[in-house]
Amino acid sequence: MKDVFCRIIDGEIPSTKVYEDDDVLAILDISQTTKGHTLVIPKKHYDNFLACPLETMEKVMAVAQRIGQAEMGVLGAKGVNILTNVGEVAGQSVNHFHVHVIPRYIGGEGGFQITMKGQDTSGMDLPRLAMQISDKLKNE
Ligand SMILES: [Zn+2]
Repeated sequence: MKDVFCRIIDGEIPSTKVYEDDDVLAILDISQTTKGHTLVIPKKHYDNFLACPLETMEKVMAVAQRIGQAEMGVLGAKGVNILTNVGEVAGQSVNHFHVHVIPRYIGGEGGFQITMKGQDTSGMDLPRLAMQISDKLKNE
């Protein structure tokens, strides 16, 4: 079954378009975490950020950047969160790569908090951890 973004791209479900070109569609998120919360979506289906080829990634991120700039310019936003989730455990709810552009305001309704909660690293071998990741990069 097609995911909701493929159905929107195919015109089967209505959306509120912010931007569209041959490769990228940007629409208002139906939940509006903050006013102007926009989703930037490649028209070709990729499951997530990690599966998206660089050529498409550049186009998606270029649109996300322009939308962030526009939100700062016309909506009175004082900041923007640009984020994408990979996998259900990370909060990905639609299995089609998308980037959230979420304007941030001082005060107001909605919004969310990003809290990074550190953990005790005394039992971790950080150099070994870094080497595991680094070795994987070298072998690709
Ligand atoms: Zn899709």
